[in-house]
Amino acid sequence: MAASRTPTLVLVPEWGTGHLMSMLESCKRILLCGGRAFSITLLVMRPPTAQATSEVEAHVRREAASGLDIRFHRLPAVQPPADAAGVEEFIARYIQLHAPHVRDAVAGMPCPVAALVLDLFAAPMVDVARDLGVPSYVFMSSTGAMLALMLHLPVLHQVVTVEFSQVDGEVVHVPGLPPIPPESMPCPVVDKKSPNYTWFLRLGHSFMDATGIIANTADELEPGALAAVADGRAVPGRPEPPVYPVGPVLLLRSSDRRKDDSDPPPHQCIAWLDAQPPASVVFLCFGSMGWFEAAQVVEITAALERCGHRFLWVLRGPPSSESGAGAPDGSEHPTDAKLEELLPEGFLQRTEGKGLVWPTWVPQKDILAHPAVGGFVTHAGWNSVLESLWHGLPMAPWPLYAEQHLNAFELVADMGVAVPLKVDRKRDNLVEAADLERAVKCLMGEEGRKARERAAEMRDVCRNAVSKGGSSDAALQRLSEALHHGAVLPPTM
Ligand code: UDP
Repeated sequence: MAASRTPTLVLVPEWGTGHLMSMLESCKRILLCGGRAFSITLLVMRPPTAQATSEVEAHVRREAASGLDIRFHRLPAVQPPADAAGVEEFIARYIQLHAPHVRDAVAGMPCPVAALVLDLFAAPMVDVARDLGVPSYVFMSSTGAMLALMLHLPVLHQVVTVEFSQVDGEVVHVPGLPPIPPESMPCPVVDKKSPNYTWFLRLGHSFMDATGIIANTADELEPGALAAVADGRAVPGRPEPPVYPVGPVLLLRSSDRRKDDSDPPPHQCIAWLDAQPPASVVFLCFGSMGWFEAAQVVEITAALERCGHRFLWVLRGPPSSESGAGAPDGSEHPTDAKLEELLPEGFLQRTEGKGLVWPTWVPQKDILAHPAVGGFVTHAGWNSVLESLWHGLPMAPWPLYAEQHLNAFELVADMGVAVPLKVDRKRDNLVEAADLERAVKCLMGEEGRKARERAAEMRDVCRNAVSKGGSSDAALQRLSEALHHGAVLPPTM
């Protein structure tokens, strides 16, 4: 690499698209906000699965052609931990094994280093940054609520000595959040004996040693949680690193561009939506890892038939060995659904014209932007939530994994942008037909008016926050200035 005087932001992302792209897009905004006074150096780890590898390589190819000053530095491969008991433990341990390589890469940069930007799972590498005298920023790709919880977890760990499910009064108190019912605690922290929990505790500790935290949220979206962190209430007695809420950072696509004749024909789902009345369709989609067993599919079909609303349903099938089942990271990527095997006989015929079941990946952002869509049944992954709010769409959250149970609780109890859906966490997040029917009727009908109005307000909040002079734009400016002042020469220069 040729020597340069332009300081670089060195990124250590996790390989999952939701993590990698929101970090990269945020850093591109920093780069543009700072008048291209920085470059970006992305440290690329070899992902642990073939599927993740091909996704990362596709991103690398696209970004290499973006015309921005983005460089890629491939880290030497490490042996994935063979004895990890949980997904989060695996991810954190695998990333941490790269710490010596990250140190070598940063120390060998041929230009000043503005900062190390670390995925939340890479937070313990604040130690590497500190040893090299380089500023470090944790990138929080999830909610401000999750940030408050992670910062507060070391305190909770001391105070709450039983499992969270056995707390007195049956709620967990986190500053800035409404009291959290135990069943809404995020998956990695529900079992204190699990290594996932131990890692989250460690990550929470590491956050405190970062120079700052960059968060994909906006002050006005999560005022309670972000104020609690800013006021130092999450970790009493210890100054917390400044938080820069720069979101919503979304990778917007064709839906936000004006169409012209050279655009390819629309996706079949979009063409189908074009023929539906405004705000008449409920959209059901469950992220990159959501899929259902046949018994759950039967419940969903019964609910959709009974509630009578138009629907667009992305139904994925169980993971196979090719899609990553049994992969070292424990992630379970769904397969394209075999509709004729999964759906009850006659369902497609009975709902023809009224509903569309799609068995594979869809252009979700374009669908959420479509005027025919009136509500979103979502797994409540944070990117999906931000995309829904960007378009002012109310939700019915059906959390499945990661921190989604906390997101679902926040959407209903705090932000008021979603209607509740009864999800039986003890039975693998099962939803019964009657409960889904009730939630969809509420979401699409008069009962859902409040959530619809709140979601419409959040649409304006999101767009204002990132426009010139908005709160997220101002946070980006502050961050850019802080980075300018912090850039240091690596020790080998
Ligand atoms: N997504 C999509 N098509 C699909 C499913 C998901 O485009 O069929 C996109 C969605 O728009 C979002 C991302 O994948 O940008 C999912 O991220 P999220 O944080 O919501 O959930 P995760 O998949 O990380 O659990």
